[in-house]
Amino acid sequence: MLGTYNYGLVVISVLVAILASYTALDLASRITASRGKTARAWLVGGAFSMGSGIWSMHFLGMLAFSLPIPLGYDIPVTLFSMAIAVVVSGFALHIVSRDSLSLRKLTIGGVLMGLGISAMHYTGMAAMETHPHATYDPLLFAASVAIAIAAAIAALWIAFTLRGESPWMRYAKLGSAVIMGFAITGMHYTGMAAAHFSPDTICVSGPLVDNSWMAGTLTGTTLIILSVTLALSVIDARMISNTANMAASLQRANDELQRIALHDPLTKLPNRVLLEDRIEQAVAHAERSKAHCAVLFVDLDRFKMVNDSLGHFVGDELLRGVASRLHGLVRAEDTVSRMGGDEFVLLLREVDGVADAMDVASKALAALREPFRVHQQELYVTPSIGIAVYPDHGNTAQMLITRADAAMYNVKKGGRNDVRVFATEMSTFFPERLMLENDLRRALERREFELHYQPKVELENGAVVGMEALVRWRHPRKGLVAPDQFIPLAEESGLIIPIGRWVVEEACRQNKAWQDAGMPHLRVAVNISGLQFRQKDLLDTIAYALESSGLSPECLEIEITESVVMQNASDAIVTLEKLSTMGVHVSIDDFGTGYSSLSYLKRFPIDKLKIDRSFIRDVSSDMEDAAIVRATIGLAHNLKLRVVAEGVETAEQLQFLRALGCDEYQGYYKSRPVPPAEFELVLRGEIGLAPVTISPAVAA
Ligand code: C2E
Ligand code: MG
Ligand code: MG
Repeated sequence: MLGTYNYGLVVISVLVAILASYTALDLASRITASRGKTARAWLVGGAFSMGSGIWSMHFLGMLAFSLPIPLGYDIPVTLFSMAIAVVVSGFALHIVSRDSLSLRKLTIGGVLMGLGISAMHYTGMAAMETHPHATYDPLLFAASVAIAIAAAIAALWIAFTLRGESPWMRYAKLGSAVIMGFAITGMHYTGMAAAHFSPDTICVSGPLVDNSWMAGTLTGTTLIILSVTLALSVIDARMISNTANMAASLQRANDELQRIALHDPLTKLPNRVLLEDRIEQAVAHAERSKAHCAVLFVDLDRFKMVNDSLGHFVGDELLRGVASRLHGLVRAEDTVSRMGGDEFVLLLREVDGVADAMDVASKALAALREPFRVHQQELYVTPSIGIAVYPDHGNTAQMLITRADAAMYNVKKGGRNDVRVFATEMSTFFPERLMLENDLRRALERREFELHYQPKVELENGAVVGMEALVRWRHPRKGLVAPDQFIPLAEESGLIIPIGRWVVEEACRQNKAWQDAGMPHLRVAVNISGLQFRQKDLLDTIAYALESSGLSPECLEIEITESVVMQNASDAIVTLEKLSTMGVHVSIDDFGTGYSSLSYLKRFPIDKLKIDRSFIRDVSSDMEDAAIVRATIGLAHNLKLRVVAEGVETAEQLQFLRALGCDEYQGYYKSRPVPPAEFELVLRGEIGLAPVTISPAVAA
């Protein structure tokens, strides 16, 4: 008896097989992406839906087949075949969701799965009990089992490989599902073809079913089960990928925050926090391996000048250039960090000792010596480098950095552009300086500076003709700090610029206030440091101070030392000429301590020479000093310059200077520098407003 096929149902069975395959592939990804209970739930649910999918494909295939006799199916056996399908599916899903799939596992799994599918198929066939029993063509039977095994192996491999979630994977899965679907149906129909029914066959299993009704219900249910499973799987994947996306962006934000917290934004180098951590690690490592590690403190000489005169853009670019050169010097495990400003610290994780660190430092000196090209300008920077080595100089990050810094500072004091290794005697002054610099940074905004005034007196008649404004720092703990103790630091750190600006403005304001109060119109002298003098905006600063105070330019004088003028003579001449055009007076401070000669100085538009107090001290007893002072006064007068003597403390000195023809003097003999209120008394005395006695201070 020959069976016939309902081709519509055949097509549907193939589609169901494809859908079941696709669901299976998708579930493999789901199970892999989940953990614990969720993974198990997906495995059980997946086994059920995939199993029912395969089974219904198979059953549809049976329904598509008809003999010229009515057919029925034994229900328990049919259900049993379905159970086999579910178990086989669960087994398959379990295999493909493991972390690895060896060839051995793939083969064994594939064979078992293929046998399982065959078992399901032939059990399902057996549910259709006929009399006499159907016979099977052994070759086709074997072929069907072989196809089942081959299809199973292929299916397992594909499902394992395509577990990812990318869009590309979806197409790949769809393609594979089609192939798998055909393989499964191929097995089924080969198995069906293997069956032979004798002409007198009758079906003995009941109940007899209406094929089309059964097929419809089955297809519907299966489709629903498979679609729901698939939908759940897709939704779950979305949720997981959303969560994963969120987690990833959170992680990114975290990483970024951490990077910002631990790195210098300008150079992208590690900052102090990260550096200290790395040093601690390096020390711990060196401790264990009985090795050394070294900290190199690198400070750029005169960087502030570049920054202030060429602008921050150039300064920033230069710092980046320095950072990259330093970075190029060290090994990957070493650290180059920026402490802020123009300070860099190198950590050499493992060195043999001081000599190794010296080597790197020398390389750094050489590397930075080459000019930097920044915005079409050639810039030269030199570094001062201090070295501290573990365990010789300390065993904490703090100590090593501090001591390398102390060594660096020692280089600065010794003329910059060099390397020095820390030595104990360097440490004593260091914390003091560090604290002072920190305090200095805040002093301006805390209004801790004040100006004291010292009168300049006409020698001939003893009249006060002007005053020098001298800055003082009222330190919250130290009390009044003299300029010698902070001006050098202020210059080095560049803080002198804002401080100096304040001094000019305050001196002008105060002088004008006195004038407005009816005091005599005197000239106030302000000291200008080298760094200040080289500022492009010096003239603007002065003009602004004059304008905002309303002080006449003739009532302002600036004092600069001869070395500052000499340092860049051609620029200095230009600046001085402009000042002179403005009407501001210029005097050369501390004259005699530099290298200049008067004949050279005559090229400069200046008004006054202030003979340094070191010449005045012994002028009445030391013949040589007396000769120098006499010659200076003579030459200056030839150049139409007025001469001021600094540091006059005694009547004897005064007497002598008068004899030498000096024009003015300044000194404790008349008055120490005093706060404005006290200076006002000096002024009042000048115009006889009130009886004031400024007791001439005796020489210390
Ligand atoms: P300088 O410009 O040569 O100022 C004169 C210094 O001599 C002052 O010291 C003053 O107190 C001191 N002096 C005056 N008369 C006598 C005396 O009879 N005997 C002795 N032994 N000393 C006397 P001070 O105020 O400590 O200032 C020291 C230096 O600090 C100044 O030297 C000046 O170079 C600098 N300086 C002071 N104020 C400023 C400022 O506002 N800006 C800048 N850039 N530098 C300043
Ligand atoms: Mg001065
Ligand atoms: Mg002086």
